[in-house]
Amino acid sequence: MRKFGGNNMELLDGCHEGKHTPRLTEVLCPKCGRPVEVFVMMEGPPGVTGTLKADEKCACGFVLPAGSPEESYEKY
Ligand SMILES: [Zn+2]
Repeated sequence: MRKFGGNNMELLDGCHEGKHTPRLTEVLCPKCGRPVEVFVMMEGPPGVTGTLKADEKCACGFVLPAGSPEESYEKY
C-alpha cells in the first residue's frame, strides 16, 4: 500500500521583480510588538532599505507612517 502525506512542499511564490513593485512584508509594531503587514517600496541606491509605501495602522492604533524606513522596525 502506498501512503500519501508527509510531503508538505512549500510553494514558492513567483518573484515579482521590479523596483517599483511594492513588497509586502511584516514588521513588528514598535508600540505593542504585534506583526503588521506593510508595503515597502524598494527605491534609492543599492544597500538602502525600502520605505513604507503607505500608512499602516496596527491593531493597537499605532500608525507606521508612510515614508519611514523599513529598517527602523524589527522584522517579524
Ligand atoms: Zn501595535
